[in-house]
Amino acid sequence: PFVITSACVNEKAADCVEVCPVDCIHEGDDQYFIDPDICIDCGACEPVCPVEAIYPDDEVPEEEEPFILKNVNFFK
Ligand code: SF4
Repeated sequence: PFVITSACVNEKAADCVEVCPVDCIHEGDDQYFIDPDICIDCGACEPVCPVEAIYPDDEVPEEEEPFILKNVNFFK
């Protein structure tokens, strides 16, 4: 799945929400999150994010890796 990282925190531009074909991007208190069980890896959200907060989970920069779990845990 794709993952939303730190650039979204307190930014919450939400452009990604509109383009996701399976509506798996949900609003949290400080940022948006992608539901990893629903994401179909279409990639539509990545280029529309104005702050480049979105990465495929296998391309998340090392310093942003805690956000992989943060996205997962939001849906537990
Ligand atoms: Fe939605 Fe596609 Fe982004 Fe997954 S990759 S969150 S399905 S827009």
